[in-house]
Amino acid sequence: PSRVLSLFTPSGRPTLGNLLGALLPSARLLPTADCVFGISDLHALTSEHDPARLRERSLELAGLAIAAGIDPARCVLFLQSNVPAHAELSYLLESTAHYGEMQRMIQFREKSERQSAVRLSLLTYPALMAADILLYQATDVPVGADQAQHVELTRDLAARFNRRYGPVFTLPRAVHPPMAARVMDLSDPGAKMSKSVDSPGTIFLLDPVDVVRRKIMRAVTDSGTSVAYDSEAKPGVSNLLAILSATTGTPVAELSPGSYGALKKETADAVIALLEPLQRHYATLSADPATLETVLRTGAERARERAASTVTAAKEAMGLLAA
Ligand code: ATP
Ligand code: MG
Repeated sequence: PSRVLSLFTPSGRPTLGNLLGALLPSARLLPTADCVFGISDLHALTSEHDPARLRERSLELAGLAIAAGIDPARCVLFLQSNVPAHAELSYLLESTAHYGEMQRMIQFREKSERQSAVRLSLLTYPALMAADILLYQATDVPVGADQAQHVELTRDLAARFNRRYGPVFTLPRAVHPPMAARVMDLSDPGAKMSKSVDSPGTIFLLDPVDVVRRKIMRAVTDSGTSVAYDSEAKPGVSNLLAILSATTGTPVAELSPGSYGALKKETADAVIALLEPLQRHYATLSADPATLETVLRTGAERARERAASTVTAAKEAMGLLAA
């Protein structure tokens, strides 16, 4: 079976985009694949962050992932910082990668332009991401288009390492799970909905349902009146159709709301029907943080066991002596 590694960074509060594009597609893989699901808290340190908020967000994300169907009994669910092998292998991969190829990464260029004091970890981030993937010998990495370049670099680093030091790593590939939707900002449908962007067009998974309804009813639509999917000419309407399709599991072609108003109402109803049970499940989990912490501790133990043999093999291959 395929070995799948999914990562999710607690860099903000999870959105409907994260749910439809990543959490639900990952949850659908659980029955057929061997899944490792990491909450990449170390990646959240690559930009200015608040420690108290990171703690909260890591637990919130763990709870939301479980509520979305990432069942810790059927996968390995853990916090990256609880498994020291990630940082350890990251260093070995930094010693395999070149400065130029890190600097060329589009995400580094974009994010570093927007900051005055760029953390060094933002530059080396792809080495840590490569470690996240290679430690578990993952075959498949479900990612959006924005992360495809990092998976490509991971393959290059793994192949370079294997050629130079011997066959230690499985070469992974980026996969786009079926039914993974790309959700755009409701108030600016030209831009992706993002958890780190503060916009009135972002639906957060823990928004009260009346707020969710209001945000969808206020979504930007397009000129004209016909409801048709055309992401170029009608980005607002197309985004609502894509959301309605992904939340109900109905192909876009089979959706036929008669008007913009009907489309918004149907979409709001469908999103709320999806979020309500998720929010209830989350409330139960967050009412008992000790249990959630135990789940994460158990996940970390299992992740440490799985990661150990890879990091040992990589160190040995590079000429580092065993203790
Ligand atoms: P950030 O703004 O911090 O980059 P983000 O919302 O883009 O946050 P990521 O942590 O970068 O979230 O990505 C987590 C997962 O969610 C990835 O698999 C990514 O492809 C997916 N994802 C993020 N935004 C969307 C979106 N708008 N639609 C669909 N999938 C998304
Ligand atoms: Mg992103």
